[in-house]
Amino acid sequence: MKGYGGRILFVDCTTGASRVEALGETPARALLGGNGLAARLLYDHVPAGIDAFNPRNAVVFAVGPITDTTVPGNSRALVAAKSPLTGLFFDSTFGGRFPATLKRTGFDAVVLTGRAAAPSYVVVDETGARVAPAAALWGRSTRDTVNALLAAEGGDADAIAIGPAGEHRVRFAALAHYWKNREAVSGRGGLGAVLGSKNVKAVVVKGARKTEVADAAALKALLEEVREPLKKGTAALSTFGTPFLVGPINALGALGSYNLRREVFEQARVIGGEEMKAHYHDRDTTCLKCPVACGKQYAIKEGEFAGTKAKMPEYESIFALGPMLGIAEPEALILANDLCDLLGLDTISMGVTLAFVCEALERGWLSEKDVGVPFGWGDWRGMLKLVEMTARREGFGDRLAEGAWRLAESVHSEGTKLVYAVKRLELPAHSARALKGLSIGYATATRGGSHHDTRPTPQYAPTFDRRSTADKPAFAARSQHFTAVGDSLVMCRFTSERGFGLFIDEPYARMVRAVTGWDVSVAELESIGERIVNLERLFNVREGVRRAADVLPWKVMHEPIPDGPSAGMHCPPDELAAMLDAYYALRGWDPDGVPTAAHLARLGL
Ligand code: SF4
Repeated sequence: MKGYGGRILFVDCTTGASRVEALGETPARALLGGNGLAARLLYDHVPAGIDAFNPRNAVVFAVGPITDTTVPGNSRALVAAKSPLTGLFFDSTFGGRFPATLKRTGFDAVVLTGRAAAPSYVVVDETGARVAPAAALWGRSTRDTVNALLAAEGGDADAIAIGPAGEHRVRFAALAHYWKNREAVSGRGGLGAVLGSKNVKAVVVKGARKTEVADAAALKALLEEVREPLKKGTAALSTFGTPFLVGPINALGALGSYNLRREVFEQARVIGGEEMKAHYHDRDTTCLKCPVACGKQYAIKEGEFAGTKAKMPEYESIFALGPMLGIAEPEALILANDLCDLLGLDTISMGVTLAFVCEALERGWLSEKDVGVPFGWGDWRGMLKLVEMTARREGFGDRLAEGAWRLAESVHSEGTKLVYAVKRLELPAHSARALKGLSIGYATATRGGSHHDTRPTPQYAPTFDRRSTADKPAFAARSQHFTAVGDSLVMCRFTSERGFGLFIDEPYARMVRAVTGWDVSVAELESIGERIVNLERLFNVREGVRRAADVLPWKVMHEPIPDGPSAGMHCPPDELAAMLDAYYALRGWDPDGVPTAAHLARLGL
């Protein structure tokens, strides 16, 4: 097959044994790779009902047909497992160089199961895998670990590692990969904790296999056509990185602050892309062969933290660690973001969990004695301390490490009403109240509170009616197909959306035809996206998900945005119910949200 290594590697971390299975053309064409392949592998290999930390849970690393081709944003891979936060299917992508190197091993997916007897790391090369001891790395930061492994395994290797948070099974532990000055984080869903539960500190890849493309001339022609639109569409990302979003989204009245008490943040300017760039920009960083270079390294030049160099906090991290906590101190955001990356924590879940703590403290549901350090709205020093405590489960950090939902359940009988989460995954920086497409999008997302199931990007266009619910179930479904296909190719969302389009359309069909040689149409790609979404839903249904789980945070349903340009917007239960009815009908699911046998048969599932 063109575009594929054609092999899947299974590694048993308990015994160190590995085996190779062929990836046939039929499943490859039905699921593409990446997300789709991971969904199939998890559905087939993870027994229903097991705890996410059970050794029988699997961690899948996967790439897709366009990985390591000439498509901009092609060095993207994903990690997938049953999530310890949601208890459901989860996948989370990352960039850097690791994805291209994984592809060069000739494996389209690597599946880790079991549990090593002692701290270990897994090395994957073209011949298979070995499990090596990593006791000396246990307790070390993600960056130290990656650097130590590259020193041991050679500079042509790439590594992704967990930090102390993953070792301590923090339910929102992340993985981080470092290449040159680029940091790439697979942040969401606590997949780092699943790796930690297997006693696996890191995965190292090395290989030199080339990805063959079926029609190089056709691919080149397509890329020539998108060169200018991509450049234009990514100009703000190239210049400022994702923090350029702070200003416009705040101006829309859709930037959650003070744990959703408001969606306007008065001090937004000082933590937005323009100001941050003016004060802290040190250099641009990029994933392998990507012309956009949306990553930035910041440097703090003066004051208490002078000399600090760290990755720019992304827009999502700014929201969660900044406005949600009433913090408008840019250097605190740089420090907190860096700390989360080094310790291996998801910034969104960390910030949103702390936002719950701020409100619970204010209500007297928690006290300073409970928390162990002074903390409250705007207290960035307390935030930094609590981030460290969370990663190592020290004191109150042990409760924070459970995520906002479980913490809230333990704090007060009405605690979960304050939590900004769907299916126990804390929500990101795209409003569930001010964007009706996300109201239904979050409620039905496989992963819960994720902005990579239904996309916010189309909804910020001035021509998009973000207030009406009328066409939003169809919008959410179509967007979910687009993200499923994008994450199966596997392609960076920024280059994808801004260069090739916001939905599955002819440019994607041309791309797949050129890479694979298959005569794929837009309709076939759309049904591949639908198949993957249904497969993920089946995984979740098997875990007990039904309509009652497709619900929004209490505040989103019951507390209208109080002021600003989106004042009054929310998604009351009856409105959500009507959108769910329409969405299930469109999907061919029964009224309880379960895919029907007839529909599954049509999808070949
Ligand atoms: S746009 Fe940014 S995240 Fe995407 S591949 Fe390029 S540098 Fe990496």
